[in-house]
Amino acid sequence: MKRIIILCLVFISVLLADVLPFDAFRAFSYLEKQVDFGPRIPGSPGQIICRDWLVEQSLIYADTVVIQQYKAYRPDNKTTVDAFNIIARFSPENSKRVMLSTHWDTRPISDKDFVYYNTPVPGANDGASGTAVLLELMKHIANIAPTIGVDVIFWDAEDMGIAGNGKYFCQGSEYYAENPILPLANKGILIDMIGDRDLEIFIEANSMRYAPELVKEVWAIAKELGYGQIFRKQVGAEIYDDHVPLNIKAGIPTIDLIDFHYYYKGKNIWHTPRDLPAHCSPQSLKSIGDVLYIWLLRQ
Ligand SMILES: [Zn+2]
Repeated sequence: MKRIIILCLVFISVLLADVLPFDAFRAFSYLEKQVDFGPRIPGSPGQIICRDWLVEQSLIYADTVVIQQYKAYRPDNKTTVDAFNIIARFSPENSKRVMLSTHWDTRPISDKDFVYYNTPVPGANDGASGTAVLLELMKHIANIAPTIGVDVIFWDAEDMGIAGNGKYFCQGSEYYAENPILPLANKGILIDMIGDRDLEIFIEANSMRYAPELVKEVWAIAKELGYGQIFRKQVGAEIYDDHVPLNIKAGIPTIDLIDFHYYYKGKNIWHTPRDLPAHCSPQSLKSIGDVLYIWLLRQ
């Protein structure tokens, strides 16, 4: 009997994920489109093309769109360039609000590949995956017209830093933390590198430190939806990502959903020219999109 009940619960979970509106293949087409734009490095033509597309898409669904322009520093070529946070706001006056965010820029160098060190990272996973999920999700946020406010934020200049030194990473969220758009979100979820075909999300250590309740909420939803194999109940690495300035400087409890282990056949793909759509999957995007959608509905 117990076995039958468990089987029924698994079946209901699978059905539930099936009826959720997040379209895996449309989201994946957004991932591919970004890679087709070329590298989205601050100061490059790809940045401008992608920025304009993100703004155009945001304007379709959000009540207001704010473009935060600031100066970002690129240590790879020692230049200062323009960078843009794109902030799509739903119910912008509502002080009860949440934030969903991701970075949309890509890394100028492949510093994990010694042969192709100077080749920009295509950023299918590292840049395009989170952006694709939030673009697809915006359509559904507009449809449910939530009773709370929602800020969907695409950070620029996240990946300019030098490995092992936090200084030039996360320049977009740093800027926002110092120049927030009010009213400020009460809590938030950051997504980064969630397109990996073999998606596994461990509990990121800073998320557990700053927002343990939010970790619990999100992991419970993932389990309900049948994504327990993806959302692992172990604390993993501590990662300096855009949620750190949000937690420390802006005071917004924020967790980071990130799969830092990005390998294919035993070979690292992260920060190499191999970060391509072939190593990502529509289903991975959907698992994250579904969890975020249900989380929003319950706020
Ligand atoms: Zn990166």
